[in-house]
Amino acid sequence: MTHSAILAEISARRQDLIGLTQDLIRIPTLNPPGQNYRVICDYLAARLELAGFTTQFIRAHGAPGDSDAYPRWNLIARIDSGRAGDCVHFNSHHDVVEVGNGWTRDPFGGELDGDRIYGRGACDMKGGLAASIIAAQAFLATTPDWRGSIEISATADEESGGYGGVAYLAKAGHYAHVDHVLIPEPLHKDRICLGHRGVWWAEIETHGRIAHGSMPFLGDSAIRHMGAVLEEIEHRLYPLLARKTTAMPVVPEGARQSTLNINSIHGGAREPEAGDTSLPAPCVADRCRIVIDRRYLIEEDIAQVKQEITDVLERLRAQRPNFSYEIKDLFEVQPTMTARDAPVVKSTAAAIQSVLHRAADYVVSPGTYDQKHIDRIGRLHNCIAYGPGLLHLAHQPDEWIGVQDMEDSAKVMALVLKDLLG
Ligand SMILES: [Zn+2]
Repeated sequence: MTHSAILAEISARRQDLIGLTQDLIRIPTLNPPGQNYRVICDYLAARLELAGFTTQFIRAHGAPGDSDAYPRWNLIARIDSGRAGDCVHFNSHHDVVEVGNGWTRDPFGGELDGDRIYGRGACDMKGGLAASIIAAQAFLATTPDWRGSIEISATADEESGGYGGVAYLAKAGHYAHVDHVLIPEPLHKDRICLGHRGVWWAEIETHGRIAHGSMPFLGDSAIRHMGAVLEEIEHRLYPLLARKTTAMPVVPEGARQSTLNINSIHGGAREPEAGDTSLPAPCVADRCRIVIDRRYLIEEDIAQVKQEITDVLERLRAQRPNFSYEIKDLFEVQPTMTARDAPVVKSTAAAIQSVLHRAADYVVSPGTYDQKHIDRIGRLHNCIAYGPGLLHLAHQPDEWIGVQDMEDSAKVMALVLKDLLG
């Protein structure tokens, strides 16, 4: 079967692609709290069963947020050729983030206007999910002698860490037999996303001693100690991080170095509740806490990343009388980057060249997505994110996906299937 037959088959399914994307947007799978997960899995299962797939529903019992009111449902659909060959797995998360303010379109209307379909989750990532389904169906319709198997999964909770979704499936061994993974996140149709930077979140607390605010010399201010920590971060750590650059092709370019964000700071009296108009009491703060979000590079080691912060705090302990602190780890993810010569990368690059007549761009995400679980828990390193949509529209009001972009990326995905399984 020639390329042109598959490409023509996808063009012929354009209306179906539009309708499928609209249907998916019209099921509000808001996370939190995790609404309608079963509804969207049922919808997809019905469609994929008609196309010859067998389906499996997996609830992530005991995952964060899982309850009888909001069960964490996942769907894996699979079709087997009956001939030996690789397994290609498309993974999309079916949850979407809150609507937020500023919309001029119905966020769950799936409105088609010109080339755009609007709605929450249009680009992140129901458009990508729809494109992968159309790609698989067009491939199957035009390639009767294909080998191996195809899986399409729709998974929960990516927007809140993926613990009720891909992490759960990976722990249960659902990726053990998979050879290639494509995650159709909205990185754009000519870009291959190889992976992401690493993450370390930690809480740092400085200690003091409470006293009357009119006689601060009788106490010891945890806030002043934290001020010294921030000063060290500002003047020593930030310049150090700026010098740590990477060979990872991270986009945007500002993220092509180590970064650190201070997510929050709290010290002394508690934040007043809404409506509480009482004046604060005069006290020296005995506790001050910050939460840091350190994003690190494939060239760095997590132990060294943590040591830099310990060094800052130990230097202060040596200099400041009564300085004491605690560090609490909150969350960590290792950086991951699939090699450019991995089979799924080479195949996708060749397909982008065929469909779009230009060379693929290789990128790495500044943040993380479900690749972390496939890589680390599933131990599968032949994984990329590839899908239609513009990343900067994700989580925004009036989120949209371009129909032509979906069609083009469905063509790329279908050619990847042809290359790996044809
Ligand atoms: Zn996403």
